[in-house]
Amino acid sequence: MGEGFLRRSLTYNARLHSETRMLDHAQRILKDVFGYDAFRGHQAAIIDRVAKGGDVLVLMPTGGGKSLCFQVPALMRDGLAVVVSPLIALMEDQVATLDELGVAAVALNSTLSNDEQRDIADRIRRGEIKMLYLAPERLVQPRMLGFLQNLDIALFAIDEAHCVSQWGHDFRPEYLQLGQLAELFPEVPRIALTATADMRTREEIVQRLHLQNAERFLSSFDRPNIFYRIVAKDSPRKQLLSFLTERRGDAGIVYCLSRKKVDEVAAFLSEQGYPALPYHAGLPSDLRAYHQKRFLNEEGLIMVATIAFGMGIDKPNVRFVAHLDLPKSLEAYYQETGRAGRDGLPADAWMAYGLQDVLLLKQMLNNSEGDERHKRIEQHKLDAMLALCEEIRCRRQALLAYFDEELPQPCGHCDICVDGVQTWDATEPARQALSAIYRSGQRYGVGHLVDLLLGRDNEKVRAAGHQHLSVFGMGKALSEGEWRTLFRQLVARGLADVDLDGFGGLRLTDACRPLLRGEVSLQLRRDLSTKAPKPAASAASQLVRGEEREQWEALRALRRKLAEEHSVPPYVIFPDATLLEMLRSKPGTLAEMARVSGVGARKLERYGEAFLDVLNGGADAAPAPRAVADLRHELVSLARAGMTPAQIARQLDCTEKNVYSLLAEAISEQQLSLEQALDLPEEMLGAVQDAFLDGEGELPSVAEVAEMLGGKVPEGVLHCVRAALQAEFES
Ligand code: ADP
Ligand code: ZN
Repeated sequence: MGEGFLRRSLTYNARLHSETRMLDHAQRILKDVFGYDAFRGHQAAIIDRVAKGGDVLVLMPTGGGKSLCFQVPALMRDGLAVVVSPLIALMEDQVATLDELGVAAVALNSTLSNDEQRDIADRIRRGEIKMLYLAPERLVQPRMLGFLQNLDIALFAIDEAHCVSQWGHDFRPEYLQLGQLAELFPEVPRIALTATADMRTREEIVQRLHLQNAERFLSSFDRPNIFYRIVAKDSPRKQLLSFLTERRGDAGIVYCLSRKKVDEVAAFLSEQGYPALPYHAGLPSDLRAYHQKRFLNEEGLIMVATIAFGMGIDKPNVRFVAHLDLPKSLEAYYQETGRAGRDGLPADAWMAYGLQDVLLLKQMLNNSEGDERHKRIEQHKLDAMLALCEEIRCRRQALLAYFDEELPQPCGHCDICVDGVQTWDATEPARQALSAIYRSGQRYGVGHLVDLLLGRDNEKVRAAGHQHLSVFGMGKALSEGEWRTLFRQLVARGLADVDLDGFGGLRLTDACRPLLRGEVSLQLRRDLSTKAPKPAASAASQLVRGEEREQWEALRALRRKLAEEHSVPPYVIFPDATLLEMLRSKPGTLAEMARVSGVGARKLERYGEAFLDVLNGGADAAPAPRAVADLRHELVSLARAGMTPAQIARQLDCTEKNVYSLLAEAISEQQLSLEQALDLPEEMLGAVQDAFLDGEGELPSVAEVAEMLGGKVPEGVLHCVRAALQAEFES
């Protein structure tokens, strides 16, 4: 199938004469093959340089459009383009995408049999393949290098080039060997690409890959479509749920620090009716791979993960990244949040952060191996992360400033720009807090210190004789929550520190002296109370609204069906942005369809008609699954009318399990009462409620209660009762 394309591309080549021809050529490939109208940012200049045979270093943020920078010149030049990529998942994704575009691309990897590999080699020799993806260790095998030296090579592209840097976190020793390409293939242009911005990594790439003569293209690292929000953590699960309510059906990633927490949060979300899968290094590798595949292929799935989940996630329509724990540096925060919104459509970066995070990370740092210098660097990075959390300027300005980029105006697209921030003079209370730390001997944790300040006469206080301290009961002007916030901020600002022994005791630092001596004052930001009116949903959930919804779902259903037929992720058929443009511009003919951004010749031919049919309400289109919101609306009416779950399931043509989970949702949002939803015998209801309310603290999970009750009560019922209890607590 690549042949036709190759022939065409050769004739393009023959017609090349001048500069303008070169750009024309690139433009035509952009439109014909990729279906896009214009290059973005530095793309045109980069492509021009590589097409002419020059070396290039590309620094561009995630979602900036790095792939086109080597894919277009690959199609402009004669010969085979060789692309080095660190992960099989990344290669497969790109090959599938190119395949759909009608470009002959293959990935050589260890999963192929010898026969398959030989077959690919033959096709390459016959010039039937335009792009070859492989891992660095494979490329530098002497046999492979020898094989390539006998071929006409269009270019070498080195993707994720920061993997060559020992300074960064993705170091791959195999990348070091790629330096030899410069000597072995002096005539072949090389293009190295990365989304890692810092100066040091940049210099290491140039050195180690011998790119001294490469032209550098540095883009802004701003991700304007991401909305940043950082909230003070009080009840993280509840806060996460309320963040997710407006994002039902969106794909996203929830990051947690520990494997245990990943498992728990994934189970919790599933229970709450959000399809979620866990991902961490403790899971068997085939299960991990399976979860990753599902995340790529399905829509609206949430991946709950440790940072083990990340590189290789090229899914463009990740609509949010939520952090339930604090990343240990701004580099990590930027990279992790950067996995949202690669497609350029609105996306959210949300984080809940609290004192425990600070204590935990500080302790991990204290206990980590490594020399003092290393620890100091890590400490410095953590401080920068904490500063962003307690920031009182625009988050985006602060974030970019850390990467040496100046944003002249506040962005208008982060929590601080939108909600504003309140500060208060915390000088006096801060002194009291520091004095409480000092007078109690610099060994107690925040809980005890707060008790002291509030004058709580409890056992621990009395055992230590702390009721006699001068600070005892001195802090009644603030609430417990306010004191906790204050302690968090003192630690975040380095005015107090965590004990080295790892028990979470606080001690003073040198930095707090001026404050204690009354030489400086202290302004702190106020946490937004969670009781405050919920800020307006960010744009992500507003992609498609109202009457557009039905057609949007129909387009997505068709895309899903085609994706399954072709065994590729849905976004490989068309990205969301393309579907959205179809929805808005409503092409009526194939010619109009061709004008939609993202519809190239090949896809027009393959899919144009089918999508036109859906847009024009054609009968052949896949039936639109009912939008969940509509379904629930109907369900609420039926339940209020007194139907049982079984009856509702029949009426709505869905499973009883689904009915129960929708009922639970409606209950937790107080659209239904438990009595309206279910007709339970008094006794059973009592027993179930008792089981949930047995312990202290958070409600036990449905699974736990199911076990307690010996499986006698259906889980669906438990979900509903739990939702009712939770709704009661919240109101
Ligand atoms: P990166 O590798 O830099 O993270 P990608 O190459 O995956 O980014 O591109 C991100 C998205 O933007 C892809 O869906 C891609 O098709 C799209 N894209 C890239 N360049 C253009 C362009 N010039 N016009 C429209 N869409 C583009
Ligand atoms: Zn801002």
